Amino acid sequence: MGYNQKMFGLGSKRSIIREIFEYSKARAKEIGAENVFDFSLGNPSVPAPADVNDTIRHLLDTQDSVALHGYTSAQGDLGVRQAIADDINKRFGVSISPNLIYMTCGAAASLSICLKAIFEAEKEEECIVFAPFFTEYKVFIENAGGKVVISTPVEDTLQIDVSDFEKKITPATKAVIINSPNNPSGVVYSEETIREVSEVLKKKSKEYNKEIYLIADEPYRELVYSDVKVPYLMDYYDNTLVCYSYSKSLSLPGERIGYIAVCPKMEDCNNLYLAICGAGRALGYVCAPSLFQQVISRCLNAKVNVEAYKENRDLLYNNLTKYGYKCVKPDGAFYLFVKALEEDAYAFYEKAKKHEILVVPCDDFGLKGYVRIAYCTAKETVLGALPAFEALAKEYL
Ligand code: PLP
Repeated sequence: MGYNQKMFGLGSKRSIIREIFEYSKARAKEIGAENVFDFSLGNPSVPAPADVNDTIRHLLDTQDSVALHGYTSAQGDLGVRQAIADDINKRFGVSISPNLIYMTCGAAASLSICLKAIFEAEKEEECIVFAPFFTEYKVFIENAGGKVVISTPVEDTLQIDVSDFEKKITPATKAVIINSPNNPSGVVYSEETIREVSEVLKKKSKEYNKEIYLIADEPYRELVYSDVKVPYLMDYYDNTLVCYSYSKSLSLPGERIGYIAVCPKMEDCNNLYLAICGAGRALGYVCAPSLFQQVISRCLNAKVNVEAYKENRDLLYNNLTKYGYKCVKPDGAFYLFVKALEEDAYAFYEKAKKHEILVVPCDDFGLKGYVRIAYCTAKETVLGALPAFEALAKEYL
């Protein structure tokens, strides 16, 4: 077989989400889409803000078409990067220049580029992730030549367990990924936790006399449902890279647009930025979609209707806990991370399926015995599913 077996493995491995996706489509044909309660995918149900569509039309009507659809600089259009830098500086009180912003095709590309820029495969370096975590991290980290090390959370809050984290840091640790609000738990890491994590990182960097990079994966930053603060990691730790995406914050997952921001307080920030440019080049991720670079630079203040997600969260959380399910009340993102009502999350998923409820068993997310409910669905799906969740609980309790 004349091709890469590792890549073949990735492409052919049975993915539970893909399996559910196919099942959901087939089942909808049999019993009607309204009778299938599909909570498997993190695809936003709330439309992009009107501003976004108006801006697209305006750009098409007023701009030179060749320039609008043409290549930009590899790292993105300077005017767009300037607008994003100004916005970051205004919102978070940092002082970043457009020359530390790199436009990307969403957070997946941002993460892959950052990891490729940081990791030196021959050195067998490690990347710490906090369970529960977005499963693709493993794919991205290993592709950059790194090894995944999992830190387990505080069980009843799913916050980072800082003492476990400290134990997981070794001389081989090169990077740490923090995702808050979190997929799959919806938890926002508290400011106290972030401060403690940063202090540990500073201490360990000094002890091992090396940089440990903090990668902030932030596609859900704007999706929060209370007045909790989502700390901006550059304010706490200098060796920070922010991976941002408009997939969820503006409901544009198919348009593939986001950016990387390198903390200006990082000692070697300009050279690390050049490594990011190199990684973008090596991975073929240069020149993020031109039209959408222009769109987002004009829609930096636009917002999706977060209230719709909050209504779904409240309906699900309040009712599921009443039926006897256990989960942490999520402050953000659009996921509920629920303890399966039996030890084997996969068996529980199969039983839920019999009630036409489709959730994702989460063993691959780094914590055994949980399922994820993605409530970025229509409210009707949530309302329709509640009696089914109740009937499912009654099988166990
Ligand atoms: N990181 C997390 C935590 C996610 O949940 C996702 C997508 O669901 C991504 C990254 C990738 O996002 P994007 O669509 O911007 O590539």
